[in-house]
Amino acid sequence: MNPKNTADQAFVRETNLSLVLRLIHNQSPLSRAQLAAITGLNKSTVSSIIDELIERGLVHETGSNTGGTGRPATLLEINPQAGSIIGVELGVDFVSVAVTDIMGNILWRRREDANPSDDQEKMINQTLQIVKDAMAAGKRKNYKFLGLGISTPGTVDVNKGVLIFAPNLHWHNVPFVRIFSEYTKLKVFVENDANAAAIAEHLFGTARHSQDFLFVFAGVGIGGGLFLNGKLYRGKNGYAGEIGHSPIMAEPSQNVCHCGNRGCWETYANQYSIIQRVQARLEVKRSSIIPKLMLDQSAPLSIPLIKQAADAGDREAIDSFSEAGHAMGQGLAGLINIFNPEKIILGGPLSVAGEYLLPSIRETVDLHAFPEINKQVEIVLSPFGPDASLIGAIAIIVDDILSHPIVVERR
Ligand SMILES: [Zn+2]
Repeated sequence: MNPKNTADQAFVRETNLSLVLRLIHNQSPLSRAQLAAITGLNKSTVSSIIDELIERGLVHETGSNTGGTGRPATLLEINPQAGSIIGVELGVDFVSVAVTDIMGNILWRRREDANPSDDQEKMINQTLQIVKDAMAAGKRKNYKFLGLGISTPGTVDVNKGVLIFAPNLHWHNVPFVRIFSEYTKLKVFVENDANAAAIAEHLFGTARHSQDFLFVFAGVGIGGGLFLNGKLYRGKNGYAGEIGHSPIMAEPSQNVCHCGNRGCWETYANQYSIIQRVQARLEVKRSSIIPKLMLDQSAPLSIPLIKQAADAGDREAIDSFSEAGHAMGQGLAGLINIFNPEKIILGGPLSVAGEYLLPSIRETVDLHAFPEINKQVEIVLSPFGPDASLIGAIAIIVDDILSHPIVVERR
């Protein structure tokens, strides 16, 4: 046989392995007969693919389907023991590391505050130390690590594994994949935080069956991960989704954004804008329990503290969230009109205050999005809440395994 045919056959085999594995991941439990019916592959091909996926430890048999007439069929699902994954989320003011199984269930985690004014090397060393502890914890439990994913704010060159520019961290050209793979000897991928979170929603979250949706990461900045026709939309250079830097109020009098421009949308809707709104209210001596909370906890003004005040019925806290929600809604209405998504999923640190943000987001979207388009869209909170991008870091490794099952060795 000539080498081209052999290469073609290997390609077809890998495509079919991936097709079947993705179906089991998305719709399990499924029987071999169901897989043959859905994929159109013949039963012997499906059986041989399943044999290989079982040998690689990715799939296992789980009970049988006794319903209906005919012989009971053995059902298949993803093997939760397939291996473990390390996820790293570089927030701007924190670092989170988690170890999960292949279904994204958390087995170990740690979150540490980070100081964004620290230099780059210090924050990376802090992160590497947590990763080292995660690997040591995994070793004690005999975890087999399949890879390490990193989610970071900013524009990322996924192919080169380099963070190109993160305005909120003031970092340029950081070769994350090289740094983390040399340190861990694992396969490492890096992805923009909102893109990673969008992939997580598609694999394990609220967008498993959605083809067109927008994930909105709300925290220090506002980032977007856009799925169009079932695929993450990356744009020409892979940098698409910087929705927070839409110059919606680009006038000389407006706030300066971390990116250096004025009037970017995120400066009206990010976590700092909420803190500023609260500060402005306290300066004019509005009655609020916030100063007492800060004193009692000897803590600075933060989103969790403002949320705590809102939970206690504090008007100034509730109104500050509501104003930021309106600002979020304005930007989202424009995106809804442009992309006609089925879902907008809000996650990231600010989603802890989702119950206070969502009503005003929806109110403003109702006012500004075209009714026919707005009817189609559902605005929801991410089931992963503030961990959306941490689970995203896991998801980029899982997604690679689902695309290339042969990267996982036979047992
Ligand atoms: Zn900006």
